[in-house]
Amino acid sequence: MTCEGAYRQGAALLKSAGVAEYALDARLLLEHFCGVTRQELLVHGDRILAGEEEQAFFQAIARRESRVPLQQITGVQEFMGLPFYVNENVLIPRQDTETLVEEALKILKPGMELLDLCTGSGCILLSLLYHSQGCCGLGTDISDKALSVAERNLHKINEKKEIQADLQKSDLFDSVTGRFDVIVSNPPYIASRVIGTLEPEVKVHEPVLALDGGEDGLVFYRRMIPESREYLKEGGFVFLEIGCDQGAEVSDLMKAAGFTDVCVKQDLSGMDRVVSGRWEKGI
Ligand code: GLN
Repeated sequence: MTCEGAYRQGAALLKSAGVAEYALDARLLLEHFCGVTRQELLVHGDRILAGEEEQAFFQAIARRESRVPLQQITGVQEFMGLPFYVNENVLIPRQDTETLVEEALKILKPGMELLDLCTGSGCILLSLLYHSQGCCGLGTDISDKALSVAERNLHKINEKKEIQADLQKSDLFDSVTGRFDVIVSNPPYIASRVIGTLEPEVKVHEPVLALDGGEDGLVFYRRMIPESREYLKEGGFVFLEIGCDQGAEVSDLMKAAGFTDVCVKQDLSGMDRVVSGRWEKGI
């Protein structure tokens, strides 16, 4: 079968399976499994695929038809310009989360110590350390399987640039000691009843542990915000990713806990996405 024929057939199969971006996904799978770039598909679409290439491509298409996310099939998602390994045990890094990283990068100074709760793939902590100078950080997660993914990403990034990161199992702050200059987190924040309404890629294939924020989606903020005061240095910062309708409530939790400079930032689509604040007092 030719590249072009495989691409067309793959795209048609994905379309029937209800995959929104069927053409793009078929092209990306052809590129990943057969090394056929977009350019080659246009210019050399008549190249005959080797038997194993064709088999690998259609196996990948079959997984995508059963709505396994593209990134779990290829094992990679780019985030802040870095390739992150992902599997079914971590949330796939979202572009929205880059807003949090960019906000935090604005205040990072050499020597700062960072803490990332619910680190998952490690995308937030590791990209912050990669894009800053002389900072170090701790990432925690309740899931051992997620921590293995973060470890793998740490090793991969260390091959490009040495960063100072530790990863540790912890239910939020439970096993954390010490105080930090910056605490960041993208906790699970989807209300439990909403999870069933999400796309199959998310509700079936991404870990519910990383999505479910309890009855109103705010359970983790209610624990994390007051507790964070005991883990911040004086003048320390908190940056939390939020759902687009949680800006007011999470800001109120921050203010009620005594944080100053509380503000809500929007993502590239203009939706509320990050709440930040400063801990001036030190307790
Ligand atoms: N920190 C990770 C991310 O932003 C995981 C977040 C989570 O599991 N809720 O992708």
